[in-house]
Amino acid sequence: MKRYEFLGYPVDSLTTDEALMTIDRYIEEHKPHRITPINASKLCRVDSDSRLANIIKKSDMVIPEYAVIWGANQLKIKLAEHIGGIMLMRSILEKAPFKNYKIYFLGAKEEVVTEMVKRLKREHRDLNITGYHHGYFTSENDREIIEDIRSKCPDILLVAMGTPKQEVWIDDHFEELNVPVVMGVGGSFDVFAGLTKETPDYLRCGFEWLYRLAQDPKRLWKRYITTNPKFVWKVLKAKWGLNGSGKVAL
Ligand code: UDP
Repeated sequence: MKRYEFLGYPVDSLTTDEALMTIDRYIEEHKPHRITPINASKLCRVDSDSRLANIIKKSDMVIPEYAVIWGANQLKIKLAEHIGGIMLMRSILEKAPFKNYKIYFLGAKEEVVTEMVKRLKREHRDLNITGYHHGYFTSENDREIIEDIRSKCPDILLVAMGTPKQEVWIDDHFEELNVPVVMGVGGSFDVFAGLTKETPDYLRCGFEWLYRLAQDPKRLWKRYITTNPKFVWKVLKAKWGLNGSGKVAL
């Protein structure tokens, strides 16, 4: 995989197949690795959130959602493929039974994660779900959750508690968890549980935010109204050389 710098952050150019092969390697290495999907919203939040900025920079794999493909393109960086967190999660779940990878799910409301697990067991009979836990807990419960994860020895831990909560929780416990592949997947459990609808493929070319907004306008309007124009402006500034950030192959 080829790594570029985009607006001061790493981004990896790889296809879904290459991402899955890299995940195989991470699991063989038995060492913790983190995968971080990036999008317009995260690349705006980093301006005021140095913790998130640092987490993205130290991620083993940084996968680009559509806005990043578009923005990179403006800076003449050709990224191989648009791989959203939910898209990679789906590919992992399809492949996991063939490799007998053990998966642990952490996040979403109790009834949501339970419903998702029920549905996944029905859809992927041989999927090895080693454990799951909802994402509404306080730091007092950290110990018990960490011990549960460690005792189940998952190969892959998917954390769905929204940004930046999930990234920070992963970062706080990354070494101790000792899971070969850890990825934050935002609102994906809600989709797999049937609570929200997944964006259709034909809208994944820049309209995913609009589809999500239509489903949850109250919560999301502020996020998209502020971050979308801000992100476009950041990209244009870089394109026109107004802040010195451009294409640098690492
Ligand atoms: N969530 C959680 N714990 C919390 C807050 C949120 O598990 O303390 C879950 C919430 O139920 C939802 C997901 O995190 O399933 C948040 O999804 P969102 O769409 O905000 O994430 P994004 O993809 O935007 O990062």
